[in-house]
Amino acid sequence: MTDSSVLFLWSPSLLNDYVECPRRVGLGLWNEKPQGEGVLLPEATSGAWRGNILHKALETAWRTSATSRSFPQQILLETIEQFGANAQPGRRRLLEALITEEDQRFIAYTWEDLQELRGARAFTNDGVWPEHAIESQLLIDAPEGTHRVKGRIDALIETDEGLAIVDYKFGETRDSQGNVLPSILRQFATYMTMSFTSGGETPNRAFLIEGLGSQPEDVTDRLPSSSTILSEFSDLANTAGTASGDPTALVARPSDRNCRWCRERTGCSEWPPADTATIDGEITSTARTGDSLAIELDGVNATGLPRPITGPLTITIDPSDGSEDLKAGDSLRIVGAQQPTGTGAHRLKVHAGMTVLRYRR
Ligand code: SF4
Repeated sequence: MTDSSVLFLWSPSLLNDYVECPRRVGLGLWNEKPQGEGVLLPEATSGAWRGNILHKALETAWRTSATSRSFPQQILLETIEQFGANAQPGRRRLLEALITEEDQRFIAYTWEDLQELRGARAFTNDGVWPEHAIESQLLIDAPEGTHRVKGRIDALIETDEGLAIVDYKFGETRDSQGNVLPSILRQFATYMTMSFTSGGETPNRAFLIEGLGSQPEDVTDRLPSSSTILSEFSDLANTAGTASGDPTALVARPSDRNCRWCRERTGCSEWPPADTATIDGEITSTARTGDSLAIELDGVNATGLPRPITGPLTITIDPSDGSEDLKAGDSLRIVGAQQPTGTGAHRLKVHAGMTVLRYRR
């Protein structure tokens, strides 16, 4: 099978997109990106950059210094340097600002977790990580051609009971009840259908590492079955063929949760969904402290929040190069807003799940 015979290249995260909202996949594949109203601040992009840097630094450390107990900080700095060297001027400063002290503690703890995992009795192979390839693929046949699903894991380790996947997550991993998110379990289950070894053996255990100082957690029993995953991919492949060029033929599933993280939302007529909280207001002043921009908002009108906002609102955006030129007189809308803290003088910190739109008069 050569690349030229592959019609579409999928990823586990695209399957998650499809299951959460097929319209999202359609807009991403077939539409030219329409310009959204206002300005989308790059909070979500910042999160992706941060995750990429931390993953890459851990991977490099494993390859070069698999036995050291403490994480070699120099590798993190060099990784930021590499990402910055390939990016636009000014990006490196932003990248450095993205890696917080908490991230550095996270990476040190995660490093120790992985060392513990390798030292555990169940793990018998003492070679340099990763013992096996960490990239693999799955081929899905559909009437109009073959689709390829590419997967990349953080580590594959041999245990007495077979091969185990290890993946660490830097973003949101749990729902409000503390359950691991279905999107993460679906991603792990996709990897379980792939072979990462030359012998064609598939993994049979999956470990998730998340958060500060967390222990590797065996999530194998919670994964959807391989047959469920293959049938979802088959559905995605067939839909991609039959609905090609017409994203409106796909059934949207707008919801506060699905739309909150959607990168297609500025071009989506279904966004924001009816149940998404929004805050509108006019900027009366701005003040920058370090990488944070504090914005005073007046004439505030909020919908969908559990309690009304009864006074002026201060919004902090941190850090974002897209917020550089916000100024007094601009009108602002926060979509996916949460209830601000405080009474009288309300405070709101914009995070990756919210979107800030600006309107100029
Ligand atoms: S904004 Fe919501 S409805 Fe629109 S594509 Fe994204 S998830 Fe689907």
